[in-house]
Order: sequence, then C-alpha cells, then structure tokens
Amino acid sequence: MHELSIAESIVDIVRENLAANGSGAVKSVRVRVGELAGVVPDSLDFCFIAITNGTPLEGAKLEIEKTNIVAHCQDCGVDSKVEGLVFQCPVCTSTNIQVVSGNELQVVEIEIDDEKIIDH
Ligand SMILES: [Zn+2]
Repeated sequence: MHELSIAESIVDIVRENLAANGSGAVKSVRVRVGELAGVVPDSLDFCFIAITNGTPLEGAKLEIEKTNIVAHCQDCGVDSKVEGLVFQCPVCTSTNIQVVSGNELQVVEIEIDDEKIIDH
C-alpha cells in the first residue's frame, strides 16, 4: 500500500529528528505532499496512526498540506499550476512542459511538547 510506505518514511524522518534533538512526546507532525504523489490524506492518516501505536509517536497528530503541481513550459517559459492533470501550457497551449514541483514528500515541522523542530 502506497500510503503505508509513505507513513513509514515520515516516521523514519521524525525518529531521526528525535534522536538528534532529545526525547519528548511528539504532539504533531506537519508534512507537505505534492498532488502528484497521489496520496489520499485519510489513508495516510490511518496508516500513520496504525504504525505509531505503542511507539513514542503515539497520539501525534499528522497534519497534511497538499501542494499544487507546477509545470514549466519549454516553449514560452511560463510556470503554471497544473489543474485536473491536464499537462498543457495555459498560455501557448504547448504540451512541451516539464513538471517542476508536485511530487514532493517533505516533513516540514515536528512539534515535541512545546518545542518545534523545523526540518528543511
Ligand atoms: Zn507555454
């Protein structure tokens, strides 16, 4: 299951940060997921709860931010948001475009007790 492996990656990233920053109860984890990653937020949340049960991450709230798909037109040079998975430049209608973002999976913030760890 796609979301399960993503949830496992998130937990790994959080654990690495915990190891580097001491221990404490994790209150929330904010992740940024590109629309192209095809993640269903409810499934991801469900998997995250399932695999953190009984670990120091138990009870942490997963906050999922979805980011738009952005494509760069090779013909006219415009960056535009891709809607409805139509990969065509809205300015010159060229299909010679390259996706520049929308595939990311990034842990952007981990909140431990009252302390925030920002992961870049
Ligand atoms: Zn164009």
